[in-house]
Amino acid sequence: MAKYVYTFGNGKAEGKADMKNLLGGKGANLAEMNLIGVPVPPGFTITTEVCTIYNQQGKQAALAAIKPEVEKAVALVEQLTATKFGDKDNPCLVSVRSGARVSMPGMMDTVLNLGLNDRAVQGITQKSGNERFAWDSYRRFVQMYGDVVLGMKPQSKEDIDPFEEIMEKLKEEKGIELDTDFTTDDLKKLVTSFKDAVKQVTGKNFPDDPWEQLWGAIYAVFDSWMNERAIYYRKINGIPAEWGTAVNVQAMVFGNMGESSATGVAFSRDAGTGEDIFNGEYLINAQGEDVVAGIRTPQQITLEGSKRWATLAGIDEKLRESHFPSLEETMPELYAELNAVQEKLEAHYKDMQDLEFTIQEGKLWLLQTRNGKRTGAAMVKIAVDMLEQGIIDKKTALQRIEPNKLDELLHPVFDPEALKQATILAKGLPASPGAATGQIVFFADEANKFESSVLVRIETSPEDLEGMNIAKGILTARGGMTSHAAVVARGMGKCCVSGAGTVRIDYRSRTMTVGNVTLKEGDWISLNGSTGEVCEGKVKTQNPDLGGDFSKIMDLADEFTRMTVRTNADTPHDAKVASKFGAKGIGLCRTEHMFFEGERIKAMREMILSNTIAEREKALTKLLPYQRSDFEGIFEAMAGYGVTVRLLDPPLHEFVPHNKAAQEELAQEMGITMNQLLSKIEDLEEFNPMLGHRGCRLGITYPEITAMQARAIIEAALNLKAKGIDAKPEIMVPLVGTIAELKNQAAVIRETAENVFQEKGDRVDFMLGTMIEIPRAALTADLIAEEAEFFSFGTNDLTQMTFGYSRDDAGKFMPDYLDKNILKNDPFQVLDQEGVGQLVKMGVQKGRSTKPKLKVGICGEHGGEPSSVMFCDSVGLDYVSCSPYRVPIARVAAALANIAKN
Ligand code: ADP
Ligand code: MG
Ligand code: MG
Repeated sequence: MAKYVYTFGNGKAEGKADMKNLLGGKGANLAEMNLIGVPVPPGFTITTEVCTIYNQQGKQAALAAIKPEVEKAVALVEQLTATKFGDKDNPCLVSVRSGARVSMPGMMDTVLNLGLNDRAVQGITQKSGNERFAWDSYRRFVQMYGDVVLGMKPQSKEDIDPFEEIMEKLKEEKGIELDTDFTTDDLKKLVTSFKDAVKQVTGKNFPDDPWEQLWGAIYAVFDSWMNERAIYYRKINGIPAEWGTAVNVQAMVFGNMGESSATGVAFSRDAGTGEDIFNGEYLINAQGEDVVAGIRTPQQITLEGSKRWATLAGIDEKLRESHFPSLEETMPELYAELNAVQEKLEAHYKDMQDLEFTIQEGKLWLLQTRNGKRTGAAMVKIAVDMLEQGIIDKKTALQRIEPNKLDELLHPVFDPEALKQATILAKGLPASPGAATGQIVFFADEANKFESSVLVRIETSPEDLEGMNIAKGILTARGGMTSHAAVVARGMGKCCVSGAGTVRIDYRSRTMTVGNVTLKEGDWISLNGSTGEVCEGKVKTQNPDLGGDFSKIMDLADEFTRMTVRTNADTPHDAKVASKFGAKGIGLCRTEHMFFEGERIKAMREMILSNTIAEREKALTKLLPYQRSDFEGIFEAMAGYGVTVRLLDPPLHEFVPHNKAAQEELAQEMGITMNQLLSKIEDLEEFNPMLGHRGCRLGITYPEITAMQARAIIEAALNLKAKGIDAKPEIMVPLVGTIAELKNQAAVIRETAENVFQEKGDRVDFMLGTMIEIPRAALTADLIAEEAEFFSFGTNDLTQMTFGYSRDDAGKFMPDYLDKNILKNDPFQVLDQEGVGQLVKMGVQKGRSTKPKLKVGICGEHGGEPSSVMFCDSVGLDYVSCSPYRVPIARVAAALANIAKN
């Protein structure tokens, strides 16, 4: 029989760290911590398989599968804690926690203090001798259970949580501010009012049977896998819905038992910058989410961190010491113990750990550890530091790099000179580094109101996820370095300043005020996530410095890679940028972009609208020098590396003027009437331009175009050769579907090249190849390879033609296809390995069956997408080519692909 429940406690565990798929990350690590002697309250994990049973077959099936195992596991927890579930004198209280394979912070639900009812609260009172604590826990339980299990949580942003409303009312009546100011009698009143609210909304009594509570919470955790924010989080992080969540049931420990109790969150290194500094936040006499939710201002764990925090917050040393002392000061022994645990955990997992702990009456307990989420900059620094500290080897260091996250490092930072001039409005905590400039919005679901927005909130909650993702940056008035906003922003690599306490936010009037400055929705602000500064208006940015750790990672990537990374570049400027990012050659230089500027477009239009070969050749003669000098610039920028130049590709209609003034001007210049011009333009119109007169079909109709381009390329290369610069042209014929097409164009190109060589009395080597972007070309690649010296898979067109989706119209249905799970990914972004991939694989095999050394690459958008790069490596491509800013990503992805293979 399948095993669905894994217990842990007292230094023993049925699971372990590498069982994350089954136990979820949280469950697997709770087991592992037990095994390595870290103090963890006992409990058990219900596997992710049960979540799947629950989702596919329903509650009863899930219950039948696990009931006996759960009862046995509860008995073990009772035994280890010497308590009894549902007992009136000595009740066993547990938490019921979600936990998927990969951590999805705050996305799913957790219930604490489960097992409490009107009898058990008496038992807890007697046992702890602390009545206030007992009722505080009970109050929290009814609230959480009501929100999470009984569906009391408001669904829209206009509604307030009914429990919060009741608490706020009581605070107002009593003239108090903090939850900790409630008396025991207040808490008792709250429990009664909470239960009344539950009855009123749900029509049912609050369940007081602990077993009923437990099953309700377990189902609720399973349900939370399918809640809206979890679905959205999975979507932006590419987590499959099939994985499901595990459920962890664990004996409670209490950070809210008084002044010798506390709860907190800590990181073994800085998750923002990557510095090797232990850091974190805690609160005395508090429970669970209090630190993360930003209800009270959390205090720093280390003395050094506390001092740094005080400086940023503008708090003097006296006030810091009296009101916000560090754990190192308040509980030095427990601090030392915690410090030892974090060192042990980091050494064990060999990665930066993010941990949750609770201190109950002077005893330390760990409740969670995981590899911490971090910014792109921290990811790079931690990988390099750990390599240099000898903790991990080179391959592991590379494997710590998520290629897509490198993107964050390539974005602009504030220009230090401009920063000096800027007006600093406020200072908060540097929660997630980066530079953000945008217009203020106050609600997450309005983040797309402006092109660039900065989301300004008192604090964020998991519901705000989508808006946080859209906004350029996030500013919160409350919350610390471990607040929801901070953790999520670092995960997204989004600039965030949190806990800017001097900022007053008024959602109703949509304004934020600091001192006597009031900004309203739509006003510009700039956030510096590295210093916590909030500046008025826009601040100028500049390119980041990519030396140091970044280049160390890039060098490592080169050490382990087999494929080359080239870039798609149409201008010398792009070629230079890409070459700085380490591109070795150009995989796609599109020539059509060269025809749009100034005088060129006129000559181009004349060429297109010519009636005779003579007219056309005259216009082409005007274009030749432009093309030649463009090629000289690009070849020079990539001297020594291959540059693949694609001959004219788009339908000619794209080049003709579409507004009247330009049409009149052109008619005049060409010496024809408007009517004659318009009828020519009409002639060029096509029903299906993407499947029409384009690519090599143009060159076959008008060989003089191909000849002019070939001449420009060869002349440019020869001119550079004369200057001692090594140009390596590769001429690429687009949209070939039959070998005859390629042969036709190759003849024109070779003949032109020979002519140029004769004229100049010198030669250069060049290659002649083709795009493989029509399915028929992949199917007949063995024939095409007879003529072609290289293949470049144009996976944009190949995807378009294989699926039969027009790239320009796919936006109309693609969102539905993704929502309804018809497609897992947009195939224009992530290469469809199952279908299009087969054509690529076949194209490579057939091509090399004719020419074993045939050079093969890819030049579609996919060339910079990590999973597609992996695929390219596996089918034996020689290179990938992508846009300049994706080159570093592709370099790491290419290395990871090669490592994974060996
Ligand atoms: P999340 O995945 O959102 O972090 P958790 O399941 O980790 O949710 O729980 C939320 C909070 O409750 C955390 O601060 C955690 O440390 C605390 N918590 C969970 N279980 C217990 C427990 N058994 N005793 C004390 N605190 C707990
Ligand atoms: Mg947690
Ligand atoms: Mg194409």
